[in-house]
Amino acid sequence: MTGDLFNPSAPDQDAVSATVAVVPCAPTPGPYDYLLDAEATALRPGDLVLVPLGGREVVGVVWGEGTGDVARKRLKRVVRKLDLPPISEETRLFLARAADYTITPIGEMARLATRAPKLDEPAPTRRVAKRGTMAPSRETRARKQALEAFEKLAGADTDFGIAPADLARAADVGSAVVASLIEDGALREAFAPRDAVYRRLDPDRPRKALSDAQKAAAEDLAEAVRSREFRSALLHGVTGSGKTEAYLEAVAECLRQGRQALVLLPEIALTDAFLKRLEERFGARPAEWHSAASGVERRRCWRAVLSGEAQVVVGARSALFLPFRDLGLIVVDEEHDGGYKQEDGAIYNGRDMAVLRASICKSTVVLASATPSLETWSNAQAGKYVEVTLPERFGRAVEPEISSIDIRQHKPERDRWISPPLAQEVAETIARGEQALLFLNRRGFAPLTLCRKCGERVGCPHCDTWLVTHRFSGKLVCHTCGHEERERTSCRKCGAEELAACGPGVERLAEEVKSVFPEARLALLSSDLAPSAAALREQIAAIAAGDADIIIGTQIVAKGHNFPNLTLVGCVDADLGLQGGDFRAAERTFQLLRQVAGRAGRAEKPGRALLQTVAPDQPVMQALIDGDERGFLEAESEARRQVSAPPYGRYLGVIFSGPDEKKVWAVAQTFAREAEPLREIGAELLGPAPAPIKRIRGKERVRLLVKAARGAPLQRAVRLWDARVKQKMGVRVVYDVDPQSFL
Ligand code: ADP
Ligand code: ZN
Repeated sequence: MTGDLFNPSAPDQDAVSATVAVVPCAPTPGPYDYLLDAEATALRPGDLVLVPLGGREVVGVVWGEGTGDVARKRLKRVVRKLDLPPISEETRLFLARAADYTITPIGEMARLATRAPKLDEPAPTRRVAKRGTMAPSRETRARKQALEAFEKLAGADTDFGIAPADLARAADVGSAVVASLIEDGALREAFAPRDAVYRRLDPDRPRKALSDAQKAAAEDLAEAVRSREFRSALLHGVTGSGKTEAYLEAVAECLRQGRQALVLLPEIALTDAFLKRLEERFGARPAEWHSAASGVERRRCWRAVLSGEAQVVVGARSALFLPFRDLGLIVVDEEHDGGYKQEDGAIYNGRDMAVLRASICKSTVVLASATPSLETWSNAQAGKYVEVTLPERFGRAVEPEISSIDIRQHKPERDRWISPPLAQEVAETIARGEQALLFLNRRGFAPLTLCRKCGERVGCPHCDTWLVTHRFSGKLVCHTCGHEERERTSCRKCGAEELAACGPGVERLAEEVKSVFPEARLALLSSDLAPSAAALREQIAAIAAGDADIIIGTQIVAKGHNFPNLTLVGCVDADLGLQGGDFRAAERTFQLLRQVAGRAGRAEKPGRALLQTVAPDQPVMQALIDGDERGFLEAESEARRQVSAPPYGRYLGVIFSGPDEKKVWAVAQTFAREAEPLREIGAELLGPAPAPIKRIRGKERVRLLVKAARGAPLQRAVRLWDARVKQKMGVRVVYDVDPQSFL
C-alpha cells in the first residue's frame, strides 16, 4: 500500500474509507479502527498519529485501511498526524512478526519502536553567541582573550555559535566579559538547535592494516553486505583475535552501500572505549541508544534513525526496534551473552530478533563471539549460518593457559576463599609488577545471613529469597526485587545477637585480599558499587592504565575490557554457575569462565587462569583446561539431542502470578486441563509446579513448561490455548518463548 490511501477529502473515496487501522503504542492488541476528520491530513501506512486510548492520548502507527469491525458511530477520531516520516514497511512487518513470535500484543512492539520523548516536537534550542558586526567599544585583556578564543574555535565557520558559558570557560574569562561583548555587538546572541547533527561517517579513512586472517574474514562479511540479501554469519574467534576490527569492515561496506548499520552490545554503559574506536575508524561518533542516555539524546537518535541521518547506531538490545529506514547490517557482539534476553514487559531474545529483522530487511546479521551459544554454533554446523573464524589472538598475544586447583585438597582457611596455591600465584604476579584478577560472580558481602541461635535465615519480606548483605552500604538487599533494609545486629525472630554471614561475595573477598596483601592496590569492580555508569567506565580506564595490582570483580569484568598488564586470573568459585540444574548450566559456565580467563595476557605478556573447583574432573572443567571448545560443544549438543532440549526441541515457559496463591494455582490447573491445542501439535506439558522463586514482589508464582518438536507451530497452538481459558481471575499469564531462565 502506498500513496495517500486514506485521504478523506479525495473526491473518489467513499465515506467508509475515512477510517484507518492504527496500532496504538501501548500494551494492547491492535490494530483498532479510528475515524479521520474530513479536513484531516492524508495518511499513509506507517505514519505516526496521536490517538485516544482509554482516556489518554497515545502515539499510534497507521497500519492500513480501517477494518470495519466496529460500527463507525462507536469509533474515536485520530487527533492529529505527527510531523514525521512514516515508519517503513519493513519495520512494520518486523514488529508484527516479532509480536507473533514472542506472543506479545503488537502494541507492545510498536511501543518499543517509539520509545523516545516528544517525538515530533521541534528540536529544543539554546542560546549561543555568534560573530557580531561591531568592533568592541573598548579593549581589555579579558575581552581580547574572549574574542581570540572565539575566533580560534570558529575557525573557517562563519556561522559558528557557542554557548556564552562555554566561551567564557574556553577563554578563561568571567561570563560578564562575554555578556558585555554581546551588548557591544562584537558578538551577537542567536538561538541554535540543541540537537547537534550527526557528523558523516567515512568508511574509507586510513585504517589499521589487517592480518591475513582478518582480511579474509572482513572480505567474507563485506561480501555478504554487498549482496543486499539476507545472510547470517557466526564470527567466531578467541578473545582478542580481532573480531571487532573485522566486523568494522562490514560496517564500512554497509556505509558504502548507503544503508544503515546497527551494532548491538550487551554492556552498553561500558562502551566508551568502543565508541572511541569507531570514531577513530570512521572519523565521527556514531549514534548511541541505551537506557542510560538522556531523553534529549534518545529523541535525537530516534529521529535520526527514522530520517536516515544516523548511519550507524551502537545500542543495547532495545535498539533493534528502532524505526530504521534501510537497515543493511546488524552485528550482535558477544552473541552468547544472557543480557540479550529481555525478561519483562515484552519478553524477547535480542539475538533471535536480530536474525528475524535481518531476514525481513534483506540484510546481513553477524553474530560475533569467542564462545558462541550452542544455538548459534549448531546453526553454523547445520550450514544455516556461515562460520567465519579467527583462530588466533592478534599480534603477539597468546591465549591464556588454564588449569584447576582442587580446593578439597588445597583448602582455604575457615571463612576464607583464596586457596594457598592461588595466593602464591597472586603474590608472584604482583611482585613482577603485573596485575591479577580474582573473579567471583556474587555481588555484596555475603549471600546469606543466618541466626546461630535459632537458625532463622534473613529473607526478603516480598519474595521467597534471602537478603544479601552489602557491607559497604550497610544494607541488606534483595537481588530479585531490589528491597533494601538496614543491616541488622540481632535476629528478628529470637532477638539473639548472633547473626552470621555465610558464604562469600566480592566485598568479603576484598576484605580477605586486604588482609593477605596489605600493600597491594586493590580495585573492586561491581555494578552496585559504582555511583554511575560513567564512574564505572572511569574505574575501568584507571585499571587499564595500571592503577591497581589486584582486581576483584563480578561478571562485568568478563565483558570486553582490555587490561594489558593483567596476566593472572583466579576464578574463586568456578562451580558456582553449575548449581541449580538449568539445562544450560554447563554451557554458561564454559562461556563465562572462558571469557574471564580471556582477560589474561591480552598484550605482550602471556597469561594464565586458575579455576578453584571441587570437581576438576567435570567435563566443563576438563574442556576449559584442555581448551577443547569443539569437543565441549559436540558433547553438549549430543546430550541435548538425546533429550530433545533446545536447540533440538523447543521450550516455552508459562508463568502464572498473582497475590492470591489459590487463584494462581486454579488458573494454572485450568490451563493444564485445557491443553488440547498443544496435544494436537504433539507438545508435552510439564507442571504446573511452584516456580523455583515461589514469590516475587508479593506475587505467588507457578510455572508450566511446554516442550515441542523443533518445527511444530508452537505459537499458533499457544494462542488457541490461551483463548480457551477465558476466566483468568486477575492472574497474570506470561509466555516466555525459548526461555533462558527457569526461575
Ligand atoms: P576481539 O573483538 O576479537 O576481542 P579486537 O578486535 O578487540 O578483538 O582486537 C584485539 C586487540 O588487537 C585490540 O586491542 C585491537 O586494537 C588489536 N588489533 C586487532 N586487529 C588489529 C590490527 N589489524 N592492527 C592493529 N591492532 C589490531
Ligand atoms: Zn525481594
